Amino acid sequence: MTAKILDGKALGQKLRAGFRQRAEALAAQGTRPGLSVILVGDDAASRVYVRNKVNACAQTCFHSEQHIYPADVEVSAVLAKIAELNADPKIHGILVQLPLPRRFDAGTVLEAIAPAKDVDGFRAENVGALIQGQPCFIPCTPYGVMKFFEDAGIPLKGQEAVVVGRSNIVGKPMAMLLMHAGATVTVCHSQTRDLQAHCRRADILIAAVGKTGLITGAMIKPGAAVIDVGINRLADGKLCGDVDFASAREVAAFITPVPGGVGPMTITMLLANTLESAERAASA
Ligand code: NAD
Repeated sequence: MTAKILDGKALGQKLRAGFRQRAEALAAQGTRPGLSVILVGDDAASRVYVRNKVNACAQTCFHSEQHIYPADVEVSAVLAKIAELNADPKIHGILVQLPLPRRFDAGTVLEAIAPAKDVDGFRAENVGALIQGQPCFIPCTPYGVMKFFEDAGIPLKGQEAVVVGRSNIVGKPMAMLLMHAGATVTVCHSQTRDLQAHCRRADILIAAVGKTGLITGAMIKPGAAVIDVGINRLADGKLCGDVDFASAREVAAFITPVPGGVGPMTITMLLANTLESAERAASA
């Protein structure tokens, strides 16, 4: 079997075309969706992510701003900017690009964002709402993964899903969304004893670790849907995921590539959340 490629660029473009129409309709009524991105420090990868987000806003008829600070900026200056953006009616979403420099307490910074503008969905209120299955901003990466299943018609009800990685921004919300969708979910992490045994049972396998080649074809159940969230940079500068793509695609039924899989969908769902926030603000 050679797996069908789940193309995040193509699906992202399809969804963004619809967002653009909604954004234009909203702008015609006087509200242009607005996203503000805060970047602290000079991490090269973070700069690329921020640039991609800002470009995506421009292509989708959103207003966007970036606020870039040196790594030694006072924490209070960043908190003051967040307070200013919380009160700014042009801004419907505020995103603080992670990771922050070590001296920052990321939790304190994220909690400073007004819940109504927390389009990354990282605040405790949003996490609680997600667990309870209440309306909330769904964290963009797992939200994008769910769109792959929806678009490709991959069933989740009653399926065995294995999520490798338990971070607050990917693994945990991913597990929650799959559980809400009716899958039986196992979460594996750095202390898991027999990763291969768990992965081999998975109809749906999500890798969100950050380790090149962690998941090989031999660890995949024939016919599984494999979603590779990992982004790793090789010595030659190329990007790859956590899944050994060549061996995995011979076993899986569906697979996401890196790059061009989950990455573009994360940005797409950031636009979705910002648009939703703007629509809520316009109808309030
Ligand atoms: P993280 O470092 O916060 O979490 C990694 C998780 O992997 C941890 O829960 C840890 O327990 C687990 N882990 C570590 N070693 C393991 C092992 N040997 N076996 C099983 N589990 C192990 O990372 P994160 O923020 O969740 O990101 C994970 C990866 O996804 C990274 O490569 C990151 O760059 C990427 N990422 C991609 C996107 C995207 O849009 N494509 C978005 C966010 C993160």
